[in-house]
Amino acid sequence: MARRPMMAANWKMNKLVREAEEYMARLLPRVEDSAEEVDVGVFAPFTCLKEVARMAETSRVIAGAQNFYPEDSGAYTGEVSAPMLKDVGAEAVIVGHSERRELFCETDGLVARKTARAIDSGLLPVVCVGETKEERDAGEMWDKVSGQVREVLERLGDISGGELVFAYEPIWAIGTGDVASPEDAQDAIGRIRELIAGIKGREAADAVRILYGGSIKPDNIEDIMAQPDVDGGLVGGASLEVDSFVALVEAAR
Ligand code: PGA
Repeated sequence: MARRPMMAANWKMNKLVREAEEYMARLLPRVEDSAEEVDVGVFAPFTCLKEVARMAETSRVIAGAQNFYPEDSGAYTGEVSAPMLKDVGAEAVIVGHSERRELFCETDGLVARKTARAIDSGLLPVVCVGETKEERDAGEMWDKVSGQVREVLERLGDISGGELVFAYEPIWAIGTGDVASPEDAQDAIGRIRELIAGIKGREAADAVRILYGGSIKPDNIEDIMAQPDVDGGLVGGASLEVDSFVALVEAAR
């Protein structure tokens, strides 16, 4: 089954409003053609999300946030809800990035709740899963990753597959330059797809897009994209410059 590829920029805690505007002004004309074939996502900090979404509105580029809290409103000081994200034009949100899990103590349970709430709110969640170096070395990669995926799937009812995206991001590959081999990316992502098939059925599994993330660069993307189960990338460092992100988008076509 042909799945539409996705290339997603995760800016993390980078870019002031002016820098975000300059980036978008340069990016949009350069991905206009590619965006016919590839979902191009820009996941911006809250402070510039409104500008990013406004500028993306007349294009096919998807504006997204990097986090939210799974209640619509209330006494949650410092948090932002799904309706607030939609209010400023966001269409998608990263959920459970390893930096959120590690630095902000997000549990598998919270990540599952966020995923369900994002879908119910009409946001496309990009749900991140992945193991540490110690876990991989100890042969526990699949225990960890399958547990993370399973908890999310068990929280959801029937799915068609189009309403969420997974991103396999081995923690040891994030921001380290130590990209996973194409075979390791395919191995983990292929197994995630089989797990989805086992829980939600073959059709849903074939429709869910699963991205790879972790030290993606223009010079390693092609071999990764060539893997049959890899549907695109979630990119940190190499997404901060327009030129390298455009190269990655083009490689995903
Ligand atoms: P990186 O980050 O591309 O800088 O490794 C990826 C991510 O954390 O999403």
